[in-house]
Amino acid sequence: MSGATNFYSKAAGTAEIAERFGDLHPPFEKTAAVTEAHRCLYCFDAPCMGACPTHIDVPKFIKKIASGNLEGSAKTILDANILGASCARACPVDVLCEGACVMHRYNKQPIEIGRLQRFAMDALHASGAGMPFTPGAATGKSVALIGGGPASLACAAELRRRGVRAEIFDARPLPGGLNTYGIAEYKLPLAESLREIDLLTELGVEFHFETVVDAAKLVELETRYDAVFLGVGLGAIHELGIVGEELEGVTNALDFIAGYKSGAIESAPAKVAVIGAGNTAIDAANAAVRLGADEVHMVYRRGPEQMSAFAFEYEHAMREGVKFLWNVAPVKVAGTTKVHGLELARLETSADGSLVPMQGENFVLAVDLVVLAIGQGTHTDFLLDGKVQLERGRIVIDRATGQTSNAKYFAGGDCTNGGREVVDAVADGKRAGIGIAVWLEGQHANA
Ligand code: SF4
Repeated sequence: MSGATNFYSKAAGTAEIAERFGDLHPPFEKTAAVTEAHRCLYCFDAPCMGACPTHIDVPKFIKKIASGNLEGSAKTILDANILGASCARACPVDVLCEGACVMHRYNKQPIEIGRLQRFAMDALHASGAGMPFTPGAATGKSVALIGGGPASLACAAELRRRGVRAEIFDARPLPGGLNTYGIAEYKLPLAESLREIDLLTELGVEFHFETVVDAAKLVELETRYDAVFLGVGLGAIHELGIVGEELEGVTNALDFIAGYKSGAIESAPAKVAVIGAGNTAIDAANAAVRLGADEVHMVYRRGPEQMSAFAFEYEHAMREGVKFLWNVAPVKVAGTTKVHGLELARLETSADGSLVPMQGENFVLAVDLVVLAIGQGTHTDFLLDGKVQLERGRIVIDRATGQTSNAKYFAGGDCTNGGREVVDAVADGKRAGIGIAVWLEGQHANA
């Protein structure tokens, strides 16, 4: 499929889920937004701008909110970050822009940059004004982008603004990758991800859905297009390798989150265990609570100090009612055909620093659903045979241009950095889009 322009309408039917997964940070009312915008000091050399991987001109867009120029504000945001709407909702602002706000130095609350950004972007969408940029004059060049997530979307937008044809190939039926399928609904609703992508189609970004790109398909695309961008993200969530893992009632966090966001999963059973302690594990645990589970445990082999989830995510999970089991490791999933328990071993630290099970301290947690969230593998098998240089399964790139060891191939996002934030993927895609356009121009000049 290509040339589609209304993905937003395909989110219909998820209203009940949207209600259960109400906004984590409710939107600003107009008066509150303007009041907050007036609090900003419009700093010169603003640290909030430096802390944003896409370097949005924060004081400029906030000043435009203060003066009532909401369309201009949204344009400022989109100029730096074409996925400014989803980043406004999904970014961990506490550790990025808001974490860097000078207000901290004066013992004041930081400016609520994320909510202001959302206010401007929501206003643009509500006004129906559309994408404030137009495609560049056609260069006659074309790029195939593999994967439809944030890195590819950002790369495609940069290419279109420079007159390069951009065609995205994705295995799923809808665009957006993790933005659409993998971020907790209370942070970024599926519908909002699609609404934002509708704007990109106004730039002429084209999509081919339900298209798996394997090694053979890649060769075909390489021949047909002037360059290839790899934005394939990460692979499947790791398995535990323990008895009972194949039972009904064992799933992984990404499938669980994608399932309820797309409407395939409407409820959770009474007792749920989520294995892992990263941000995705927390998203899955909170989702289980909101889907009706009575008791949700997060199970982690170390203590709270070592968990990889942000501190604010941990606090949020506790507020949602998630319980934590520290210093335990799963040893067996119990059940006949369906899961009914998870056997756990208590762990202690041995003299050499390794974690070892405590003798006679195993116990069984009664559960109906086990959700694995113990990190993802890479998804680069189709690049074997030296197509591009890999390091521990990650694609090696020039960080300034996104170019790989193979000049015709560029890459960005999780497949190059091992899994970071949406805004990091957008920054990568943006850099690569510019890098590809410059490289294509050089090829043309040397031809
Ligand atoms: Fe405004 Fe804070 Fe950024 Fe300064 S650092 S421009 S006060 S948001």
